[in-house]
Amino acid sequence: MLKHWPGPHRLALSTLFGLLLLVATLIALRPAPVTGHLVHLPDGWLARQFSLPVSPTQPAEQLYQVKPGDTLGGIFHDLGVDHAALRGVLAADTELLALDLLHPGQQLLFTFDSDHSTLTRLTLILHPGHRIHYHRVTEALFEFEEAVLPTHWRQQTYAGVIQGTFYQTARDAGLRDRHILEAQRIFDERINFRRDLRAGDTFALVLGSEFTENDEPTGRRRIEGVRLLARGTAHNAFLHADGNYYDSHGESLNRAFLRYPTVARYRISSPFNLRRKHPVTGRVAPHHGVDFAMPIGTPILSTGDGVVIRTGNHPFAGKYVEIEHHGAFKTRYLHLDHILVGRGQHVSRGDRIALSGNTGRSTGPHLHFELHVNNRPVDPMTADIPMAQRLADAELDDFKQRAAHLAALLDRSDLRLAQRQTRNAPPDT
Ligand SMILES: [Zn+2]
Repeated sequence: MLKHWPGPHRLALSTLFGLLLLVATLIALRPAPVTGHLVHLPDGWLARQFSLPVSPTQPAEQLYQVKPGDTLGGIFHDLGVDHAALRGVLAADTELLALDLLHPGQQLLFTFDSDHSTLTRLTLILHPGHRIHYHRVTEALFEFEEAVLPTHWRQQTYAGVIQGTFYQTARDAGLRDRHILEAQRIFDERINFRRDLRAGDTFALVLGSEFTENDEPTGRRRIEGVRLLARGTAHNAFLHADGNYYDSHGESLNRAFLRYPTVARYRISSPFNLRRKHPVTGRVAPHHGVDFAMPIGTPILSTGDGVVIRTGNHPFAGKYVEIEHHGAFKTRYLHLDHILVGRGQHVSRGDRIALSGNTGRSTGPHLHFELHVNNRPVDPMTADIPMAQRLADAELDDFKQRAAHLAALLDRSDLRLAQRQTRNAPPDT
């Protein structure tokens, strides 16, 4: 076509084409936009963008800060990590489900091999004291490893004189909603907060905050002690090492847990085992729950009072429900066929929460049931869960020591309140 055009025009047009080609090439070569959450670019990144040979140096790392709405699949896609690696990591996370619900502010550290093509390790940084590593073992297999630093708890007390509702008084004292609700939940069986509290009654609460050895806050908080002085009667709750709350005499404040999440008993097809050997690879692959063989559609019951904190559908864990109970307890129910509750819903012990199934990676219809105490999985069949209403004598001494320490903190805030009340009292006339 061009050859039919007069010479000068042909030249101008060729130049124009040349320019367009150059611009197109420049656009193609332009590095991908760097988004704000990519904190660190791996070594050799620039070289890769321009197809230059990469020097065989250290493995490359890339740190990703989780944003609201992020999913692991989306992040892998954005970073160009292949789908097989995603499957491998998700499979390794089945016993933890730590990657299934990412929270803004968490960090993911991607480690690639020296040619920058293969993901060799993914690290989830839950907080400064808790990292989970997912290592590549073979082409298709990843394994997890948790790195938990020792932590300690520091106490702070909050106190107030009831005016209006307990909720409002506690808010004014500086407490957050979730701890106010938790305090009410602890006394659920003993006190009706509307009926039993009067203006002039007092409350004091010890809140613990967790710190690492390097004094970095982990973000975790827990109620360690509460005292309500209602119409002259003191109601105390102290957190014991077993994760449950007891009164001054060591009597449990909460209803006992059910040991089994079903009405009938079913055969255990695979027990809880932290040292379980993987049937195929022969490597240690912990089993964080107990498996009960049962027909699909068997009603699953919450083993305690609590709040549904998440439900999900995981490629390996299947449909699952997680419930947070009072104190330090959580339960999980996996491979469900049908979920009957929603996130945020309050459930009572014995409530139907789901129908059992065979979803996810499952070798037959069964329920995988987990119990966590202080965020660690324990054997639900043997765990020292609050089954009895009273602490055993063997534990009572230890409990009384803790309770005395917490009571002293509560006494101090009671005293401060009393002084405040005297100061605020109308002048004697
Ligand atoms: Zn299982």
